[in-house]
Amino acid sequence: MNAPALASVTDGKTAAAGIHKVGIIGAGQMGNGIAHVAAQAGYRVGISDLRPENFDKAIDTITRNMTRQVSKGLMKDGDMRAALGRIEYAPSYEAFGDTDLVIEAATEEESIKRKIFQELCPKLKKGAIIASNTSSISITRLASVTDRPEKFIGIHFMNPVPVMQLVELIRGIATDDATFLETRKFCDALGKSISVSEDFPGFIVNRILLPMINEAVYTLYEGVGTVDSIDKAMRLGANHPMGPLELADFIGLDTCLSIMQVLHLGLSDSKYRPCPLLVKYVEAGWLGRKSKRGFYDYRGEKPMPTR
Ligand code: NAD
Repeated sequence: MNAPALASVTDGKTAAAGIHKVGIIGAGQMGNGIAHVAAQAGYRVGISDLRPENFDKAIDTITRNMTRQVSKGLMKDGDMRAALGRIEYAPSYEAFGDTDLVIEAATEEESIKRKIFQELCPKLKKGAIIASNTSSISITRLASVTDRPEKFIGIHFMNPVPVMQLVELIRGIATDDATFLETRKFCDALGKSISVSEDFPGFIVNRILLPMINEAVYTLYEGVGTVDSIDKAMRLGANHPMGPLELADFIGLDTCLSIMQVLHLGLSDSKYRPCPLLVKYVEAGWLGRKSKRGFYDYRGEKPMPTR
């Protein structure tokens, strides 16, 4: 599947008033996308990752995606260079001491996120907002491990961030109005459209999308169809731009499994039971596009179904 066309967004002059510098934790596919749109909208951006080499990969991806925007006339070359100049590596959370907003976009595992917030809080200035890009984990529960639950919010970007219009905003039980309004202004400055969700497992998009993907994996597991026939059926029969298994590979199968586990546990309903085949792929390290193998094998010229 070709990468979707990058949208035309703001030109580096629209940063919201109270937020000037943004920190991002996690330089994976979401972290690099968030850095892309934030730098493009005029914010200074620091990115940290457990693995410093992931920062270099993120910069390569952002450069490639912005170059594509320039070649399509959606961005000026000078604006691209200025935006790239606004992004820097944050070797530790000390570098986030002057940030107004930190967005956590690390691996979808609650224990990882909790540890990040505990280590991050003492390094932040008073009043800095903390956001999580979690796909499914309770914002209220994540906020409770911080020293500022009233300044904690969910900003759920969609993948790929530079292309997708929507951002879900999720208030935890303690999130104050000022934090909500400031975050909303930030999302407006990025040119995103906002949908507000209550803090329940999976929020809105993934509460609906992931059970559909999980059902597609069950359809494969039970032999109802092959990878090709399932994806083709949903592309041509339901007019979805991507088949559910292609989409699962695009999201990351580890992320899909984590979201299903959060839905299963959080809603205590067996209809959210993760498909054992999804579990098996993740156990094999076949995580989709990011590891070059999932329901498709991406190591050759053309993605080939693995079943
Ligand atoms: P990813 O696997 O591409 O990237 C995760 C990054 O986090 C990796 O670079 C990893 O090294 C880093 N990381 C792990 N532990 C860390 C730590 N302790 N400190 C700093 N960095 C750490 O994952 P992703 O797809 O970018 O997902 C990141 C978050 O965004 C998850 O919470 C996920 O649920 C959410 N999300 C994902 C999608 C999607 O479609 N993939 C969409 C919306 C939201």
